Amino acid sequence: MAEEKLSFQAEVSKLLDIVVHSLYSHKEIFLRELISNASDACDRLRYAALTQPELLAGGGEFRITITPDKTARSLTIADNGIGMNRSDLVDNLGTIARSGTANFVNQLSGDAKQDVALIGQFGVGFYSAFMIASKVEVVTRKAGEEQGWRWVSDGRGDFTVGEEPAAERGAKITLYLRDGEDDYLDGQRLQRIVKTYSDHIALPVVLVEDGKEEKVNSASALWTRSKSELTAEQYTEFYHHVAHAFDDPWLTCHYKAEGAIEYTGLLFIPSQKPFDIFHPDRKQHVKLYVKRVFITDDCADLLPPYLRFVRGVVDSQDLPLNISHEMLQHNPLLAKIRSGLIKRILAELKKKAEGDAGDYPAFWDNFGAVLKEGLYEDFERRDEILELCRFRTTISDQPISLATYVGRMKEGQDAVYMITGDEPEALKKSPQLEGFVAKGIEVLLLTDPIDEFWPNAIGKYTDKPFRSVAQGAAELSSIKAAEGSEQPQGEAAAGDEVEALIAAFKAALADEVKDVRISERLTESAVCLVADEGDVSLHLERLLRQHQQAKTRAPRVLEVNPRHGLIRRLAAEAKRDGAGERLADAARLLLDQARIIEGEVLPDPTAFARRLSAVLERGV
Ligand code: ADP
Repeated sequence: MAEEKLSFQAEVSKLLDIVVHSLYSHKEIFLRELISNASDACDRLRYAALTQPELLAGGGEFRITITPDKTARSLTIADNGIGMNRSDLVDNLGTIARSGTANFVNQLSGDAKQDVALIGQFGVGFYSAFMIASKVEVVTRKAGEEQGWRWVSDGRGDFTVGEEPAAERGAKITLYLRDGEDDYLDGQRLQRIVKTYSDHIALPVVLVEDGKEEKVNSASALWTRSKSELTAEQYTEFYHHVAHAFDDPWLTCHYKAEGAIEYTGLLFIPSQKPFDIFHPDRKQHVKLYVKRVFITDDCADLLPPYLRFVRGVVDSQDLPLNISHEMLQHNPLLAKIRSGLIKRILAELKKKAEGDAGDYPAFWDNFGAVLKEGLYEDFERRDEILELCRFRTTISDQPISLATYVGRMKEGQDAVYMITGDEPEALKKSPQLEGFVAKGIEVLLLTDPIDEFWPNAIGKYTDKPFRSVAQGAAELSSIKAAEGSEQPQGEAAAGDEVEALIAAFKAALADEVKDVRISERLTESAVCLVADEGDVSLHLERLLRQHQQAKTRAPRVLEVNPRHGLIRRLAAEAKRDGAGERLADAARLLLDQARIIEGEVLPDPTAFARRLSAVLERGV
């Protein structure tokens, strides 16, 4: 096949443009990225060779070489790993395949500063070579195949792919340096960079200079070394490598499980939220090794989705080396490792949550919404997870635990009160909260979509049921008000008048609401909408509608505040003759008003506007 010229996928071009024109203060990280890829390529071949030893023809000693060439002003990074064939080259180096990444790149603004911060979250991998190279050449042959290939690009929109008969197994990546980048030809400089960023790479990284070879890294799997000989920097660099991340780990947990089942875990929790944490695939991200051989980075059974923010490696002593992906499913040994890992991670989180480092809120902010999925999905551990949860409330902007909440419940209060919505600030203004706020009763402000699901699934915290303040009846009268808190002011309308008003409202709104009731929870607003006991919440219905999952609207209950001036006036009218039409108008206006407060779209905005104008006109 002759050499062919192909174009990069549009997203790659955009990424390359950003890489070349702005970017990192630390250009030297290109070397870490290329060494990291080379090491992954060797890991993959080592695993494939467990079942197909013939793939190792030509040598099973894996290594990575770095060769500067001062005459040609080029730097070559070569590995004898799995290599790439023509379609691998086109797919891997011409497009962005990683899930969500293409989408992500499309969101980049073109504003260098902002974009660099964002890109920092996922790295640019292979393409970082173009930071220092004006041309990159990849010569490669895939293990088990005869034909080799040459890929060349100047990073400006196209690349070429052609046959290369002399290619050896693996990949040889040559960077032709830009002007002013000659530093990267200096052996000592290269050694320092490898030591700094890639010392943990588990195979030898060898510098080849003037025909002499020198191994420059320690070349032992980092997690097999003892904690005491590792520094925080080494852990951080390893985290960057396994997680393809650029931030510092928020948590590093390195341990050896011994006993019935033996494995080593080196786990990290990022300090920044990965951009794809809510990707629908909900994949976990811990890599599985068996006796130091990489097995897979795609083992769904290793960790549950609600711990998908965890990064790192697990190395098992007990699983068989030649284990296939199929054998990993429902494997009892793996199930034991999984529960060991979950236990360990939850225990580490508990330590952080109860410790006094003060950094737990940062974790909660990033990953609380993910961890809460466990409340819904991991029945066995939900009490443990619940203890780790933190909530903003009507009283506290600092998220608090449920234990704290219960500790300050009011006399006579026997439920944990909550309200769900999109934004804490908007939620705080909800009319449904008025009576609770007036009595000084604390209410949890729940703003993650998952919050619509777990309280029902769990039912209670210790013996205290979860109750939505926007649902069912409010049992406020039995709860004693906090010392000094405001009590509802003003006279209520007379009982028989309110009853007549409610009857008139019911008649006018018969098709639109399930019921009209006197409210216990309102102190300032005239009306509000609540969901009846057992109905879906208004917020959930809105979420479902946004995702085209619900078309109909459940009829709601309209609550009326008998102490409100307007309601008192209307109630006084209710028993007079001929008030019917005006009360019906008022009922419809008040219902629409309650819908607006809920953030609902009015079913008939024109009718609302016409009615409002007519009533105003009469009043003026
Ligand atoms: P990432 O490594 O994050 O997936 P890269 O842009 O660095 O992204 O690399 C893209 C893909 O190209 C890799 O996933 C891998 O499949 C392939 N690749 C890169 N370098 C090599 C190499 N040295 N040997 C074999 N395949 C490689």
